[in-house]
Amino acid sequence: MDHLWSPWRFRYVSEPPGAHECAFCEMACRTPAHDREQYILHRGKFNFVFLNLYPYATGHLLIAPYAHVANLERLRDETMQEMMALTKTSQQALAAAYRPEGYNLGMNLGKCAGAGVADHLHLHLLPRWVGDTNFMSVVGETRVLPEELSTTYDKLVNCLAQTGLPKSSS
Ligand SMILES: [Zn+2]
Repeated sequence: MDHLWSPWRFRYVSEPPGAHECAFCEMACRTPAHDREQYILHRGKFNFVFLNLYPYATGHLLIAPYAHVANLERLRDETMQEMMALTKTSQQALAAAYRPEGYNLGMNLGKCAGAGVADHLHLHLLPRWVGDTNFMSVVGETRVLPEELSTTYDKLVNCLAQTGLPKSSS
């Protein structure tokens, strides 16, 4: 399962940095007016939910704290709790939008573990379907996007709203 998160993740760090050295801090600090173009689905109190720009599968989400921390031990309890609550809600939204047969949920902490943005921890949540791994092992690093990110965004932002979360705002 090594191929799951790793090959394309480096693109986050290889892209030119803006005001921040960190791609996630860069995203988080922009005003919510830019949320749609950045595929930020939801801004919580301590975390935000957004589409992975280099998804392994349609609906591949990331949940990250606003705080620039690399390790779980540096994450405040309230941030961790909200992260898990948002993960749960995001899974509900994925279920409503895509009816997946399973999910992968996890973190890569540290570059050797496959983290592309190693200094800013983030949780991956992605839907899975029977047979998708076989397909990916054939195509290797080629990413197949059966759906445009903007389409995924629209579906999930609506499904998230239906779970009771307020619309993305801060
Ligand atoms: Zn950061």
